[in-house]
Amino acid sequence: MSEPLIFEKSSAKRKGVSIPKPDCPETNPPDVISKEFLRDDIKGFPEVSEVDTVRHWTRLSQWNFGVDSGFYPLGSCTMKYNPKINEDTARLAGFSKAHPYQSDELSQGALQLMYELEGFLCEISGMDTVTLQPAAGAHGELCGMLMIAQYFKEKGKPRKKVIIPDTAHGTNPASSHLAGFSVVSIKEENGGVITPDVVAAAMDEDTAALMLTNPNTLGLFELNIKEIADIVHKKGGFIYCDGANLNALMGIAKLGEMGVDVIQFNLHKTFSTPHGGGGPGSGPVGVEKSLEPFLPKPRIIKKGKRFSLDYNRPKSIGRLKAFYGNFAIMLRAYSYIRAMGADGLKKASEMAVLNANYIKEKLKGHYYLPYDQTCMHESVFSDKLQAESDVHTLDIAKRLIDYGFHPPTIYFPLIVPGAIMIEPTETETKEVLDEFIGAMIKIAKEAKDNPDIVKNAPHTTRVSRLDEARAARSPVLRWKG
Ligand SMILES: *Cc1c(COP(=O)(O)O)cnc(C)c1O
Repeated sequence: MSEPLIFEKSSAKRKGVSIPKPDCPETNPPDVISKEFLRDDIKGFPEVSEVDTVRHWTRLSQWNFGVDSGFYPLGSCTMKYNPKINEDTARLAGFSKAHPYQSDELSQGALQLMYELEGFLCEISGMDTVTLQPAAGAHGELCGMLMIAQYFKEKGKPRKKVIIPDTAHGTNPASSHLAGFSVVSIKEENGGVITPDVVAAAMDEDTAALMLTNPNTLGLFELNIKEIADIVHKKGGFIYCDGANLNALMGIAKLGEMGVDVIQFNLHKTFSTPHGGGGPGSGPVGVEKSLEPFLPKPRIIKKGKRFSLDYNRPKSIGRLKAFYGNFAIMLRAYSYIRAMGADGLKKASEMAVLNANYIKEKLKGHYYLPYDQTCMHESVFSDKLQAESDVHTLDIAKRLIDYGFHPPTIYFPLIVPGAIMIEPTETETKEVLDEFIGAMIKIAKEAKDNPDIVKNAPHTTRVSRLDEARAARSPVLRWKG
């Protein structure tokens, strides 16, 4: 299981490739390239044969855990298996080799695809218009909050506050702050959702918006959303919905019809882009009509049969991203939506919700379930029962690795101490879910009978528990040859 650094595999004069000597006179680099562009020998540069190089990187890649190698139940992340056809589509030369400075005339296909994707997202969410520009979920949130700020500024009555429930994603208060708002925090009541009374008490005419995550970070649907939206709208505020987890709602519920004014989508979660490690992502934003003038520019417009980019938008919040956003991710999303069709998307959401509830029901009793009710695409347990034998969430997560599973999201959301957040997604079979449930139940039993085996896990990996704090504080990023 051990693999040295590529530098340590180096042996002087060993070559990666061997090609015949040239049959023309050799030139001396300094004769043809100016000296400032040439660098001296790189000290300690690895000299490794081709097969050793290939084996080195292949072995490293196999230590990684991905959705192609196993079940990845990472709550709030929607790590679903993405059909490979969408990867093929994203690599079609006509798209992948298009240059961003190409004229509109030579980019009609790409513009049409983006235009239609905006339409699909409007249809799925019930919003009036969509921009594809933001590069991630949190970037979409910032875009939405900047538009709301601009709306009030434009009216000559800037507002200062945003209300955010404690069940919202952590990026929500961060995005609100970045857009210049101060955050008023409210608490979930009534079994994990916010109630109209709490919102009514907090809402006033200096509040620009209520920003909620729906389904929220407990995996629950905000049942009172319509009534809450009415309260906020009556005082002139907007409803911002963090729609990162649309996987539970596609084809079933349109948030735009429940009073939501702004929503961001995470194409890299719900709509077929493999993600993790920080990107790349795409976080389109949908808005209702009154916010349309503030959308980032350029906008894609259609006149007759011709598509073009419109920069003449005086009220726009401006550009949020170089060029037009992460286009290859839009391609995958478009391909996914077209391949699935309306019925397919609905079925995917139904399966995601069914799978999450199946796991919840089977693990209930073995693990503490703080909010025991029908969930959406994920459910949140905690280590409360195992803590009695001094076994904690991190130990349970590490032990799952021994059983061949990627750990779920842990210690999030913060309102559940020792949270274990499980999102199976629609793509897993009942057999896989049963194997996972079996492993979780076995670990619960081990926690009682043999807590040490859980507390010292993982036992089957190349390295076991790493000193994560030290790795973050004093990382060794350079080989000292
Ligand atoms: C993932 C997620 C985000 C952040 O999305 P990024 O693309 O990582 O910026 C925001 N809100 C919720 C509910 C999420 O699950």
